[in-house]
Amino acid sequence: MALKICSIASGSSGNCIYVGTDNVNLLVDSGISKKKVEIGLNAIGVDPHTIDGILITHEHSDHIKGIGVYARKYKMPIYATKKTWDATLNYSSLGKIPEGLHVEIFPNEDFMIKDMTIHPFNSFHDAIDPVCYTFKSEDKKISVATDLGCYDEYIIDNLNGSNVLFIEANHDVKLLEVGKYPYFLKKRIMSDVGHLSNETSGELISTLYNETLSHVILGHLSLENNFPELAYESVKTVLANCSHVDCDKFNLSVASRSSHSELVVV
Ligand SMILES: [Zn+2]
Ligand SMILES: [Zn+2]
Repeated sequence: MALKICSIASGSSGNCIYVGTDNVNLLVDSGISKKKVEIGLNAIGVDPHTIDGILITHEHSDHIKGIGVYARKYKMPIYATKKTWDATLNYSSLGKIPEGLHVEIFPNEDFMIKDMTIHPFNSFHDAIDPVCYTFKSEDKKISVATDLGCYDEYIIDNLNGSNVLFIEANHDVKLLEVGKYPYFLKKRIMSDVGHLSNETSGELISTLYNETLSHVILGHLSLENNFPELAYESVKTVLANCSHVDCDKFNLSVASRSSHSELVVV
């Protein structure tokens, strides 16, 4: 069964990623308007009524702000850890969410939605209980890892063996350093519970590189401290300098901030 992924929107202003097979349609986060989600899904031939669930990574507004409107219209299950769900419900502009939609998940415990096996695992980020997800169907694996300030063996173990890596390349360190963000925010972004820089993202990808990897999609770019060409070139430079990485063996792309990107099928 082919696995599919499409970034509906990705960046510090709002995130929503579609992952599916021919039998199951899922969204990771919904930090954009319902209308934008519908436009993105329709563009890749997925009826928004067929979404089987939304998986929340963490309660930051760029990941949850569209969930209330979407849930009221489509009433699909929403998967989140208990702490993340409680924090999500405290987000003031979410509005009322219909009762009974929340499904509790636990980091490091696989669960299934139809023919998809989903594995949530902890990430290093300044939210209450942040997770990243991997998705498996038969022998294919897609990983979605954004909003992590650093990585270790545990993160590497969880992401290893992916056919598609959707991975954060949030900022260029020099642009961030000289940019207009206040000092505390610069410090937060660069911390171990902030976001991955382009260089660190490249290093993580090089660590994960193996022959099964066919697509790397860079996402969650900062509007102020990065731009698509810079993220692409920075990551490519890191990878090109690694003797064990063959850059011709996989496709490297950057997810669009405001609209849907191409549908990747493996
Ligand atoms: Zn975040
Ligand atoms: Zn975020």
